[in-house]
Amino acid sequence: MFVDPKPVDPQKLQAFVDTLTQEIHAQADWGKVADYIPELAQVDPAQFAISIVLADGTKVAAGAHHKRFSIQSVSKVFTLACVLGRVGEQIWTRVGREPSGTRFDSILLLEQEHGRPRNPFINAGALVTTDALLEHRAPKDALSEIIGFICAACEDDDIHIDRDVAQSEERTGFRNIALANYLQSYGNMRNDPALTLGTYFHQCAIEMTTDQLAMAGRAIAQLPQAPYVMTRAKARRLNALMMTCGHYDGSGDFAFRVGLPGKSGVGGGILVIAPGRASIAIWSPGLNAYGNSQVGTYAAERLIKFTGWSVFG
Ligand code: GLU
Repeated sequence: MFVDPKPVDPQKLQAFVDTLTQEIHAQADWGKVADYIPELAQVDPAQFAISIVLADGTKVAAGAHHKRFSIQSVSKVFTLACVLGRVGEQIWTRVGREPSGTRFDSILLLEQEHGRPRNPFINAGALVTTDALLEHRAPKDALSEIIGFICAACEDDDIHIDRDVAQSEERTGFRNIALANYLQSYGNMRNDPALTLGTYFHQCAIEMTTDQLAMAGRAIAQLPQAPYVMTRAKARRLNALMMTCGHYDGSGDFAFRVGLPGKSGVGGGILVIAPGRASIAIWSPGLNAYGNSQVGTYAAERLIKFTGWSVFG
């Protein structure tokens, strides 16, 4: 079993996150909320939450950790986990596993690479994985599988989709609509693109608290207390993809500053994994230029300096 050479004292960690939360609220630069989804444009950027679950199951949290937020692209980790369970390694014939170096919603590489998206976390790749989960099923069944997976992972049945957010994106998600149709033109959609898009917008509109998200991440961190929802091999794959592709064209910056696998969403959430040590969920809705939580990234950086949890030592 993994023995942590630098175990962190939960009381000191609690004091650290309390102070960090106060410091964050005292500073002014929250970043800018995602305004291309009208429902998210209304969220107050001046909010912050952090939840940490340690290897022994101890929970540490501060800020608005009971408040639900739109997990958006963090959902792509759970969808991929379901797809790996369903079609296994076959998914890699349809989507790659290389960082893209382009924005989350970029169409640029798709033409050059003949409709095979670079990785499952950029929007084009996520549309392909959602499409794979949908094959031979109705959207509500694919969505039930994703939500069922999350409920099992966080041992909490109180996980829902915010329909207003989903409908808001359905009305305005023209880039995603373009991406799905473009993928279809290369034969890389197995379902009607409208059905895949509807499923994708609803999966992105799942709302969770940081407490729930940190609990759901335990299996990816392979913590001893985590329910058995995935094999070690699958967790390893998810961590590798989160490290290299989890923050779009800001993935290098996140690895440089934090040194841990992470997956961001435009709702301002970040799931950060300290393998064998902790599962961390952070939320602050204001985004930086890469479309990742501005204060959330800063908080992750501070946390890792305090704990020494970077996988790079
Ligand atoms: N639903 C968002 C979109 O497809 C997700 C993007 C994100 O969270 O990064 O544009």
